[in-house]
Amino acid sequence: STSSFSSLPDAPVDEIFSLNHAYATDPNPNKVNLSLGVYRTEEGQPWPLSSVEQVEQELHSQNNPARHEYLPIEGDREFLDHARDLMFGFNKNDTDVEKEAKAKKRIASVQSISGTGANHLGAAFLAHHLKPKHVWVSIPTWANHHTIWELQGIERKGYPYFDASTCAFNFEGAITTLENEAEEGDVILLHACAHNPTGVDPSKEQWKKIAELCQRKRLFPFFDSAYQGFASGSADEDAWAVRYFFNLSPPLEMCVAQSFSKNFGLYGHRTGAFHLVTNGSKPAETELVRKNLCHIIRGEYSMGPRYGSTIVKRVLGDSALRAQWQKDLTAMSSRIKRMRQALYDELVRLNTPGSWEHIINQNGMFSYTGLTLKQVLTLRNEFHIYLLKSGRASVSGFSEKNVAYVAQAIDNVVRRD
Ligand code: PLP
Repeated sequence: STSSFSSLPDAPVDEIFSLNHAYATDPNPNKVNLSLGVYRTEEGQPWPLSSVEQVEQELHSQNNPARHEYLPIEGDREFLDHARDLMFGFNKNDTDVEKEAKAKKRIASVQSISGTGANHLGAAFLAHHLKPKHVWVSIPTWANHHTIWELQGIERKGYPYFDASTCAFNFEGAITTLENEAEEGDVILLHACAHNPTGVDPSKEQWKKIAELCQRKRLFPFFDSAYQGFASGSADEDAWAVRYFFNLSPPLEMCVAQSFSKNFGLYGHRTGAFHLVTNGSKPAETELVRKNLCHIIRGEYSMGPRYGSTIVKRVLGDSALRAQWQKDLTAMSSRIKRMRQALYDELVRLNTPGSWEHIINQNGMFSYTGLTLKQVLTLRNEFHIYLLKSGRASVSGFSEKNVAYVAQAIDNVVRRD
């Protein structure tokens, strides 16, 4: 009998998840996993945040019969208000209440299936209602950005981002390409902080110039925020670029995909939000945007999951838990910074050929090591050290115990060439 699917095109395998599987099935006791973007302790274990565990204990001790009920289509309203306030910096002590109430009315927020779902929802909404000719993504970018926009049928174009000779942000290249080639109404995808995979972010002065370009050329900024508070330890610092764009005058239309996977350690609970920001010229427009987002949500997944959003709203809504969360963020971000320093120190101690400063200058979960494909494959096959083909290493895979082993292996493969 003939099959309907015999001529299906092959679909790409996700490099990160398949590498993680290869690591898991490698019997070598020295193996080191630098593939997946998840936080790990010194012992290589997952780390539920203390603030999150406190809420979980509370939730388990309460007998709340409504705990498995559906959320509304837009998601949990209280969670969304907290998520929005965290992202845009509302409800601080020095707030101008009236100005802020007006600013909040510019934002349509809905719950998403974590950051991936927020990216998808934004892409689906914009593909329908903005109809951009192109989406501009950094070269390189998180591989899923390509998949998400490809599935919406929007042509992807790249703007230079990483300068391999300096291992730094190629600001001139990015600005020149967007200036000369981006068209009015195009979407420009920006990583709010801790760029994945390079760990290289624009400076504040550079962000201002990117914002000016978006305003002048009427480009639509799409911020992807997956590491707020996780990268620097400060949620305010990591949201600086988003807030700068948001507060521009005249107001800019933009959107933000917000993930709580890393900063709350809620990876598998798929906790996130999508915020679309209108320019505020017509107050009813925000509500119309929200309704249209809900229409997509209903047709695709009905509503977001409630466990993670319940935890996030409780933590953010309670001052003691929020203070604990800040300590949790500091613990995670400082361990990552310590491991960057430890790897750098080891490579310097070994006098490994090349320059390694970028390892300590880069920000967030990942380091773009600058290792070649050949070197990466040797690390994997001979030393059982797993990093992406691009040379991206997830820094939280390092520990005091394995960093000398990895540095020695890097030294070994670098000296072979
Ligand atoms: N965007 C970027 C740039 C990321 O690095 C990630 C996580 O790796 C995400 C979005 C979304 O992750 P999640 O769907 O788990 O929130």
